Amino acid sequence: MKAAPFEHHEPETVEKAVSLLESLHEPTIIAGGQSLVPMLRFRLARPDTVVDINGIDALDYLEEEDGYLKMGALARHADVEDADVIDEDDYGSFADAAPLIADPQIRNRGTIVGSMAQADPKGDWGSVLIAHDGEVVARGPDGERVIPADELFLLPYDTSLGENELITEARVPTPAAHEGSAYHKLKRKTGDYAMVGVAARLILDDEGRIEDAGIGMTAVDITNARAAEAEAHLEGERPSADLFEKAGELAAEESNPESDEHGDASYKERMVDVLAQRALGDAAERAGAVKRRVTQ
Ligand SMILES: Cc1cc2nc3c(=O)[nH]c(=O)nc-3n(C[C@H](O)[C@H](O)[C@H](O)COP(=O)(O)OP(=O)(O)OC[C@H]3O[C@@H](n4cnc5c(N)ncnc54)[C@H](O)[C@@H]3O)c2cc1C
Repeated sequence: MKAAPFEHHEPETVEKAVSLLESLHEPTIIAGGQSLVPMLRFRLARPDTVVDINGIDALDYLEEEDGYLKMGALARHADVEDADVIDEDDYGSFADAAPLIADPQIRNRGTIVGSMAQADPKGDWGSVLIAHDGEVVARGPDGERVIPADELFLLPYDTSLGENELITEARVPTPAAHEGSAYHKLKRKTGDYAMVGVAARLILDDEGRIEDAGIGMTAVDITNARAAEAEAHLEGERPSADLFEKAGELAAEESNPESDEHGDASYKERMVDVLAQRALGDAAERAGAVKRRVTQ
């Protein structure tokens, strides 16, 4: 099937894009098109007008600035794989997640911001941003506002973005001195969406205790979700296998997966527990906690 006809606009500035979003009838933004184009082709989306932001060069960046890792709306999944500032030690969860998304063709086009805007509970970036206390910056006719990742997702494919708002950037704080993070994802085969995914981020104090913990979960609730009780259980404690075992249990209890053809809900809950423990173990190791503490 071919997409229904629509008007196509290619603004070259954010200001022009925002003004088009305000003036056009029910416009839809296109970035990488990796979620939108299939929906257009199956006519699940039938917008009158499409605002293509790929010509806005000012949105094409991935950089550390002012205490944040900032990803402009045209930063692609593959840019995360290629970025010099991202490796296992710094932004480990980003380094883990990027190569696990879909296939190279999709990673070359799909954007981090588009994934956040798509609000698919199976999307990987939502969990990573939640674990890092990330946020998105939105521009609309009334100016700019910052939305914490937790508050962006309302329902599957539904966000708190206004109708005429454009997300210009997704960002997370730059790593603290003793910070580590990781992302673990269970999928049936290469290229698949997550059956379950868990992102974990730990900041240790100078004594080696957990000062701050972040855990985001993929595909086990109606949106990407935070495991707040598991996080609270970790804070103030020293990393250990026992501690992570309890945190994994709590995260599993906080998850709310549905049974489907890939597995029943109890299996997915168990996988949240397992993946949370693995992600926390890697995060602790990357934060500089001696491995012995994690594996005892
Ligand atoms: C076969 C397949 C496998 C995939 N596997 C995975 C996977 O394993 N993990 C994963 O996380 N994702 C996966 N994806 C999704 C992929 O990552 C998409 O690239 C991503 O979800 C959307 O990004 P995009 O730039 O392509 O957005 P688009 O498709 O262009 O847009 C998606 C939605 O976001 C809106 N939007 C885009 N940019 C903005 C903006 N700046 N401001 C406001 N709204 C905006 C659009 O209007 C649209 O509603 C897969 C997709 C496919 C087709």
